[in-house]
Amino acid sequence: MTDELLARHRAVLPSWMALFYDEPIEIVHAQDRRVTDSSGRTYLDFFAGVLTNSMGYDVAEISDAVRKQLDTGVLHTSTLYLIRSQVELAERIAKLSGIPDAKVFFTNSGSEANDTALMLATQYRRSNQVLAMRNSYHGRSFGTIAITGNRGWSASSLSPVKVNYVHGGYRYRSPFRELSDAAYIDACVADLVDVLETATAGDVACLVAEPIQGVGGFSAPPDGLYRAMKEVLDASGILFVSDEVQTGWGRTGSHFWGIQAHGVVPDMMTFAKGLGNGLAIGGVVGRGDVVDAINAQSISTFGGNPVAMAGATAVLDYITDHNLQANCEARGNQLLSGLRAADNPLVGEVRGKGLMVGLELVEPGTRTPNVRAAKQMLEETRARGLLIGKGGLHNNVLRLGPPMTLTEAEAQEGLEILVDALAATHAALS
Ligand code: PLP
Repeated sequence: MTDELLARHRAVLPSWMALFYDEPIEIVHAQDRRVTDSSGRTYLDFFAGVLTNSMGYDVAEISDAVRKQLDTGVLHTSTLYLIRSQVELAERIAKLSGIPDAKVFFTNSGSEANDTALMLATQYRRSNQVLAMRNSYHGRSFGTIAITGNRGWSASSLSPVKVNYVHGGYRYRSPFRELSDAAYIDACVADLVDVLETATAGDVACLVAEPIQGVGGFSAPPDGLYRAMKEVLDASGILFVSDEVQTGWGRTGSHFWGIQAHGVVPDMMTFAKGLGNGLAIGGVVGRGDVVDAINAQSISTFGGNPVAMAGATAVLDYITDHNLQANCEARGNQLLSGLRAADNPLVGEVRGKGLMVGLELVEPGTRTPNVRAAKQMLEETRARGLLIGKGGLHNNVLRLGPPMTLTEAEAQEGLEILVDALAATHAALS
């Protein structure tokens, strides 16, 4: 049945749509942190639809809030009219952002959010020059593909903006890898200065960065890097955009926004994924003078619609009511220490923060990316009832991003499967 659906998928959907697994899964039911496929098999979900079902599945408080909005009959009339829930959610996000005089614009996805940030920054600065991090991913719109620094996801090379890439986001394969944290930061800042002085005309609009690279393999630079970089940017009026599409809403445990680990307030932040718990929502929160930089009318037909607003408001309430930021920190530490203790020779690095945990797989005793092992791990964990993610520049990084509601027992269950699957993969490939 899946074979037949896969053949039909291949026939009418683009060849470049990424699918996981040799035999891709069709999910037909989901509850709490588990999903069931069309053959009736249930899996513990450690990827949550790419960190999207952040609260888990079928959460009564969220479903009820969405249903209540649907029952009003106001599914979507238009964002041309006043929408109370949109104003209220924007007020909350503006306050949470810590950005002075912040304003919010809602979109339907992370790509649109980043595209909007690019449009605002380039308009505000009257420049189409942008800086991005090596190994970054910012979406699949024409503008965001252009600044993505990861070959595997750079689907178009015809860029509407001029981009230069700087070091810093991905330490494991950085030429500065062996340096101390402080020296690493100094080297990355020196690289930024060098790029600004030698590769740009100086009038750069913004630097866009993920506090922890998501698609790039859950790689986090040392805390403080982005504060040091922002000091350089501030000297030239260059804006700093933090892409919080994966790192927002407390998922990193220690902070509500990933960028807060760096002790700096960005000029803009973009968000999506986890805020909707599966509903399509994204947005930009930024300095009011930057957000207001457009001298024309603009709306997003669906961005900020009442159903998405109802769901997102319920998600924010749920995060606060259940202290999920603290849960992310505790469960993340449980996974990190359990995986480090396993000490499997295939694992070159266990890294991450909160419930963004990455395992970079290598050929034992080297740093050579082990793509075969990553592929095998996906199948071995699936066979044991666990869904995980994969990514990284070389497609050799396992990514764990379970719902933020993960329990201690579920973390332990996933951990045991991962350790067992690593041993099986090592044995199979030795
Ligand atoms: N930014 C980051 C950091 C992401 O991880 C993603 C998606 O994976 C995006 C932007 C694009 O978001 P979307 O797929 O909702 O357009």
